Amino acid sequence: MKLINSLTVAFGKAMVKALKLAGRDAGNFPGLVLWTLNKNYLKVFSADCPIIAVTGTNGKTSTTNFLNRLFRSLPKRDDGKPLKVITNMQGNNLDTGIGSMLLQYCDMSGHIDADYLVLEVDESHVPVIFKHFKLDTLVILNFFRDQLDRNGEVETLILKVQKFLKTYKGNLVLNADDPNVARLGKANPKNKNVYYYNVEKYEGATEELYEAGEGRFCPYCGEALVYDYYQYSHVGRFKCPKCGFGNIEPFVQIKDLDFDNSAFTIEGERYTAKHMGIYHLYNLSAVYAAAKLYNIDHKIIHKVFGSFEVNNGRLERFETADSSLLLNLAKNPVGANMTLRLLNQDKREKELLFVLNDNIADGRDVSWIWDINFSVFKGVTRVITSGTRAYDIAIRIKCSGYDPEKIVVLPDLDQAAEEIFKNGGVKYGIANYTAIQPTRAALKRYISENGGGKEK
Ligand SMILES: [Zn+2]
Repeated sequence: MKLINSLTVAFGKAMVKALKLAGRDAGNFPGLVLWTLNKNYLKVFSADCPIIAVTGTNGKTSTTNFLNRLFRSLPKRDDGKPLKVITNMQGNNLDTGIGSMLLQYCDMSGHIDADYLVLEVDESHVPVIFKHFKLDTLVILNFFRDQLDRNGEVETLILKVQKFLKTYKGNLVLNADDPNVARLGKANPKNKNVYYYNVEKYEGATEELYEAGEGRFCPYCGEALVYDYYQYSHVGRFKCPKCGFGNIEPFVQIKDLDFDNSAFTIEGERYTAKHMGIYHLYNLSAVYAAAKLYNIDHKIIHKVFGSFEVNNGRLERFETADSSLLLNLAKNPVGANMTLRLLNQDKREKELLFVLNDNIADGRDVSWIWDINFSVFKGVTRVITSGTRAYDIAIRIKCSGYDPEKIVVLPDLDQAAEEIFKNGGVKYGIANYTAIQPTRAALKRYISENGGGKEK
């Protein structure tokens, strides 16, 4: 068996090396080949360090990047060397992507020498990956409808994670305000290491459900859940009037939100953040809860919260001499609605760039755009649509009552980038999964050719 493991590792490493020599990123490929040969290939790897994993529909990449930055900021090892933190920051979050990444870091016996492994994991792959690894902490962010073609219904996905959790005894960090996530706290009654986080009611919270949401019924008794308020989508202060589900005392809560100064309080201390979108605050609350479990110093948290930005199409800013565009990824209606909320919070006039693709990784079905809440567009003077489904998103926006004269359809991304920057001023950008990197590239190309980056 050992010999087979060593051969698997050697073969995998050879593939990674060959790809690198060819100037290519390892991506999913080596893992995919090993998986094709042996469905249980992940068991060739071993690690002694704590493994922290982040899963959920939205916010995985950002949360994983923040945790990675926090762990990397910890004091050095006793031998003076910096801590070794291994992470899949590029978002290769399926078992094959994680396998490919581990091949690059393991020795010939498959052992990974690190101080921490911080992994972003696709919801449906949690049981597959952690069948082979001892998971120390699992952070669960939220469950929304996303890429239905691939993931199936939300409930099926939650049940899959729940089944895994039935025997899991490690730390479980859960969003107290998402009933889809909070219900998992009882998956294994023997697990005492369950911790909840949330964010205090914010100024944009509503009494009625404002956007399409999931999980309006109690998972235990089937009664309709009652909400004091909704923060966004179905995330908010909920309770089951029959069995009391939702009566949760959080381990970490973000309080005293000050949107003008991008500041908030956790456990009596004041922190600042680069962005104050409500969903970003939920991510930070999750990050803080995980950091607390590892006794990370508040000074380090201060620094990371106040200065770190993911800049991978997640609230990333692009500047020209007379214009500034804030780009955000949206894979599903909730993600798009979050960016529209930010746009509406901004009192200035602005233009919106919306890039929609329908490649396989996006799910070919783009009907989710009909669940985006475009009805309250505040101060949007023009919309540019682009991507392989530029016309679909234009029609969707027109049907919400927006003046079609103000919509410009340009499927070519370079033309769209030129058009959005034409007038100067405030811009917002939304792009879906396979559209986000090409959109970033087109915006960067425009800026490098036409000059940009005003001094801040
Ligand atoms: Zn109930």
